[in-house]
Amino acid sequence: MQRDTLVFDLIRQELERQRHGIELIASENFTSLQVMQAMGNVMTNKYAEGYPGRRYYAGCEIVDQTEQLAIDRLKQIFNIEYANVQPHSGAQANAAVALAVLQPGDATLGLDLSMGGHLTHGSAVNYSGKTYKPYFYGVTREEGLVDYEMLESQARTIKPKLIYCGASAYSRDWDYARIRKVADEVGALVMADIAHPAGLIAKGLLSDPFDHCHIVTSTTHKTLRGPRGGIIMMRKDFENPWGLKDVKGNIRMMSNVLDMAVFPGIQGGPLQHVIAAKAVAFGEILSDDFTAYAKQVQLNAQAFAKALVEKEYQIISGGTDNHLVLIDLRNKNISGKKAEQALVAADITANKNMVPFDDKSAFVTSGIRFGVPAITTRGLVESDMQFVVNVIDNVLMNADDANVISAVKKQVNDFMSQFKLYPEMG
Ligand SMILES: *Cc1c(COP(=O)(O)O)cnc(C)c1O
Repeated sequence: MQRDTLVFDLIRQELERQRHGIELIASENFTSLQVMQAMGNVMTNKYAEGYPGRRYYAGCEIVDQTEQLAIDRLKQIFNIEYANVQPHSGAQANAAVALAVLQPGDATLGLDLSMGGHLTHGSAVNYSGKTYKPYFYGVTREEGLVDYEMLESQARTIKPKLIYCGASAYSRDWDYARIRKVADEVGALVMADIAHPAGLIAKGLLSDPFDHCHIVTSTTHKTLRGPRGGIIMMRKDFENPWGLKDVKGNIRMMSNVLDMAVFPGIQGGPLQHVIAAKAVAFGEILSDDFTAYAKQVQLNAQAFAKALVEKEYQIISGGTDNHLVLIDLRNKNISGKKAEQALVAADITANKNMVPFDDKSAFVTSGIRFGVPAITTRGLVESDMQFVVNVIDNVLMNADDANVISAVKKQVNDFMSQFKLYPEMG
């Protein structure tokens, strides 16, 4: 067969784009070469519906071992009893939990999308808002911190079956114990979605959600720096609260209910090549190198936030505990949309984002979100954050000046050429 040069040329162009720019999208990262190599392998050819040792297809002896390795390593990372590594993405992990825990029409309570929450926590355009009855809590107007009082009063009034915590654009740690307390009071289960900060939680740099939340989900490609995918976890298994029984009449454990919600509930054959790459990434997370990486992410985020504050950028909540900041640009007289476009023109990638109590639409927005996991992987340290903030500020203050933008772009490309990305790829 002829090599598809059209597609491979585009892949090459994408590599060059990633090399030249400053990547500040908070949900992105650069996997190691071996994680990527593990993804492009013959296990993509294998059907393996079911779980290790209990498959609906023959010939699964080898993929059973990679999947079991991924599960065992993940359990070790978070010190947990249960892990499912099959969800194709974070959204799929959340869909499986919803299917396991909720009936159509059941009430849920999550952080509002416009306040930093995620689509899968009850947004009207998502299955989670269409199938279930979503209610929301927000952040406080003054401090920009999760409004736990609102969460508690909503929970007491609504009596949701599931409370979601976790977010996509929130720079502070969570009080999981406080959420669990009200959940117990109203008979709700708590799911923590740690898609963003999982890599920091893995190394004990943020509070541990596992003791307080019944179920924890995550992506594997954000701060965990693995292949694109999802995972579902529990520190302790427990009997499903609805008295569901198996064919022998035994009450099913939550682990069985969750496994069945992933397959056959929402997925067919698992992506065994991606699961192999997850196993590789989890092995890397267990190393001391990753401990150093996670600490550097947090240090870089703090240095980055400090440099922004010095230039009078308004960080929601005033600072960061994790890897990201959300900026309200209204005092700088530029919309999130315009800021995003100007930054991209200078090879700086970040995404526009609603800020709490935003008066602009989701397409325009008043804010922008920056995260440092990807540039930390490139090798940038605290002392580099001033340069990064200087170029951002220069672009945002001169968003209509094509000369400034092209001069900054050159500075950005020169600067990033010091930090090699996939040098093995030539
Ligand atoms: C990124 C994210 C997800 C979804 O992950 P996908 O892999 O894009 O489906 C879910 N929840 C939160 C909080 C996220 O930030």
